[in-house]
Amino acid sequence: MLTLEKFSIGVGDRFAHQAKAQLTACVMAEKSGVTVIPVWNKSNREHLIVGSEPASVRAAADAAVRELGWKHPYHVDADHINLGTVDRFIDASDFYTLDVASAIGQPAPAADVAAFVGRHPELIGRLSVPGIAEPFATTRKSVEAVAAKYLFAVQEAGRIYRHVAERKGADHFVTEVSMDETDLPQTPPELLIILAAIADEKIPIQTIAPKFTGRFNKGVDYVGDVKQFAKEFEEDLAAIAYAVKRYGLPANLKLSVHSGSDKFSIYKAIHDGAKKFNAGVHLKTAGTTWLEELIGLAEAGGNGLAIAKEVYAEALAHKDELMAPYSTVIDIDQSKLPTAAEVNGWTSQQYTSALRHDQKNPAYNPNFRQLLHVGFKIAAKMGPRYLDALEANEAMVAKNVTANLWERHIKPVFLGQ
Ligand SMILES: [Zn+2]
Repeated sequence: MLTLEKFSIGVGDRFAHQAKAQLTACVMAEKSGVTVIPVWNKSNREHLIVGSEPASVRAAADAAVRELGWKHPYHVDADHINLGTVDRFIDASDFYTLDVASAIGQPAPAADVAAFVGRHPELIGRLSVPGIAEPFATTRKSVEAVAAKYLFAVQEAGRIYRHVAERKGADHFVTEVSMDETDLPQTPPELLIILAAIADEKIPIQTIAPKFTGRFNKGVDYVGDVKQFAKEFEEDLAAIAYAVKRYGLPANLKLSVHSGSDKFSIYKAIHDGAKKFNAGVHLKTAGTTWLEELIGLAEAGGNGLAIAKEVYAEALAHKDELMAPYSTVIDIDQSKLPTAAEVNGWTSQQYTSALRHDQKNPAYNPNFRQLLHVGFKIAAKMGPRYLDALEANEAMVAKNVTANLWERHIKPVFLGQ
């Protein structure tokens, strides 16, 4: 089996220009004594919006690895795929995020639910999991209800897994199962039941992305009860450690935190929990790199700043269309969005202050930031004009991309700093 390393960071490179700047952050981590391997992820939705092919992600990753002499593993993630979208990722990817969130709640055959509960009497009653103070209390009925809710989704993950394994060979890729893009979080006892079902389905899962408690909006901080998150995160880690032993799942199975960029208020809890359980972490940061491109362009001034302003003006003009596909993962107060005319009058510093995620800066505007986060389609439409600006201002953009990953993400999550 292709084994995923203990610590990994998902990075998104919408326009395939920042792989080297991203990998530089992993090189800096390495120099500080912790190996964090990069996983370049791009979903089918992003490929469709940008008009790119999965092979371009592989090519950019390979080139960056060659250029920087990176000796550790790295992966290319077919992000949030399903049976309908996975085929174009077979050649380029060696990491598959099987997204079964939309299958949650779809009914599995009643006989399958009964068979699952019959196979797992250990899940019923008082369930003592090492590392969790209060034993979980379940009944046959409650386990049946959880199985009825998730079994079809896990079976669907099995179908996608086998589809990929038949085409690539089971030893040639890393499997993640994601359930994050749904309304309700999965509780730690639910996670345990889901893992039992995944083991039954014989999916060699190395990472799982549940929906955690609280809001994980794109590119902005966590919104929710940090204490409750910390408690559930630790209980999830305990449930995983237990499931690995009890059900023979891969020993390196770890949690994946999706929409993980910029969740500064929970990074300490993630770091401390992983340390306590000697567990790995996959932190997915995706779209935050695209925002650093805009910051770099704005900071460069001249044509770069003009392009950054144009992206905002167009994003504002098309906000409903841009926001629609991301409605569950953004919270934009439209009354706090500056007008295009206002932004057109901004200096470099005004633009970067509004966009850069520095909560101590009174000019920081999370609404402005979230709208631009979903606005990459505008830059994609600009085509070569946008890409030329990236290339003309490469140093300024790269500096921001690297610093964001290193200072604001890798340091707090993986080094506890
Ligand atoms: Zn996700």
